[in-house]
Amino acid sequence: MKKIPLTMANGKPVDDNQNSLTAGSRGPVLMQDVYLQEKLAHFDREEIPERIVHAKGAGAHGTFTVTNDITQYTKAAIFSEVGKQTRTFTRFSTVGGERGSADTARDPRGFATKFYTEEGNWDLVGNNTPIFFIRDPLKFPDFIHTQKRLPDSNLKSHNMMWDFWSKSPESLHQITTLFSNRGTPDGYRHMNGYSSHTYSFINAYNERFWVKFHLKTLQGIKNLSADEATRLAGVNPDYATEDLFVAIEKGHFPQWKMYVQIMPELEANEYAINPFDVTKVWPHGDYPLIEVGILELNKNPTNYFSEVEQAAFSPSNKVPGIGLSPDKMLQGRLFSYPDTQRYRLGVNYNFLPINRPDVEVNNGYRNGAMRFDDNGGNSPNYEPSHYNVPTESPELHEPPLHIDGDADRYAYDSDANSDFVQAGNLYRLLSENEQKDLVANIVGSLQYAEPMIQELQIAHFKKADLAYGTAIEEGIKNA
Ligand code: NDP
Repeated sequence: MKKIPLTMANGKPVDDNQNSLTAGSRGPVLMQDVYLQEKLAHFDREEIPERIVHAKGAGAHGTFTVTNDITQYTKAAIFSEVGKQTRTFTRFSTVGGERGSADTARDPRGFATKFYTEEGNWDLVGNNTPIFFIRDPLKFPDFIHTQKRLPDSNLKSHNMMWDFWSKSPESLHQITTLFSNRGTPDGYRHMNGYSSHTYSFINAYNERFWVKFHLKTLQGIKNLSADEATRLAGVNPDYATEDLFVAIEKGHFPQWKMYVQIMPELEANEYAINPFDVTKVWPHGDYPLIEVGILELNKNPTNYFSEVEQAAFSPSNKVPGIGLSPDKMLQGRLFSYPDTQRYRLGVNYNFLPINRPDVEVNNGYRNGAMRFDDNGGNSPNYEPSHYNVPTESPELHEPPLHIDGDADRYAYDSDANSDFVQAGNLYRLLSENEQKDLVANIVGSLQYAEPMIQELQIAHFKKADLAYGTAIEEGIKNA
């Protein structure tokens, strides 16, 4: 076997990796042990700031294969023909917990996929829930604070969560999802993924459609009971991470079928539900699922830090044929996600191998901390120019989006009861046993909130479904 010399960062071979340089055999360590200094200094900086949300995660490489023609809705090259394959990287995560927290906590699960398309990277950054707690990004930091820790004790707080939720009734639909058995999925392979937000498709005729993405697990939905999730948090806090890694290692490649719901652009003005309200689904009866393709995860990372931890996803990473929508939460994430990555990984994070697109990147961005490629070499870093510099592609201009009204701070324009309707629909579609689990899971948390908070929250549950709210009220009385 060929010897691999151990070296310092400058390439100099290391003569001794076991003994520090000391003044005599019992003397103090010498300043001039530059190898020791470098080794400790690097070790001290091994951790980078963790994501403020979605800190604990696991990921894998994969392939997306188109199985159905949707070119009438989008010109995105990734969907251009049936059978076409695109390489991907997917990261799953919990939301509120820190990087070492338990995988089985009751929490939404992040489901983020980067598609390395021939037109650049497209990130679908969703969750395992089709909806979200809030719909205005101005509330996002407040909401996340309630999922984190109290300022004095550094403890998590049921009271804090329910205080915020009871004052934000638009959260009721997502609360019902979170406290149902789907709130503790059995690993990452047995849950669905959803874009949650509404995005847009643009077709070859420059027509716009609103779109929601669904990724349905082909392993089947499987959830953990609340007791089992709590037990696993103790005996194997990395339960989901291990499950994914081991399955792929054994060649059991998990798959999800991608579907879309499509709404022609102008129908948004007529539809009874505000299609840009992320606390609502589009009922399947109104907008049926259209099959698109299969996402398969088939290769584990070889280095967790460089592939999973440094993976940086953002809904702002889009490609021609896939666009945004006026969904306010989506608009907020367009700033918040890349901003987190700039803070966490540095302004040049898109040059990291896991984030780098397969296509050439040509622009005038230069310099910045940790610019580790050739920094554009000697090419001009401005445009327009008489020289052969990168230029724009006007044929990719999206159709204009009609906007009217006065700039102001508006609440969502749904009627007062609409926050409760879909939460009630979800409660009513659950089996009797699932309803019992849901009520028990809520009581197990709401019982720790102050009575004034319980009272307001129970009133919300009753508006969704009288039996739902009454069962919770009874449960709290007997807790
Ligand atoms: P449908 O009867 O057409 O759809 C109900 C959907 O609910 C199913 O397709 C399934 O979504 C999901 N579901 C089934 N069992 C459970 C369960 N035990 N826990 C959580 N979700 C479950 O009715 P609608 O489309 O009108 O939706 C009714 C309610 O279903 C909504 O208010 C929403 O809460 C929930 N739902 C709706 C989705 C949608 O996009 N329309 C998506 C997910 C949930 P899936 O196939 O995605 O697993």
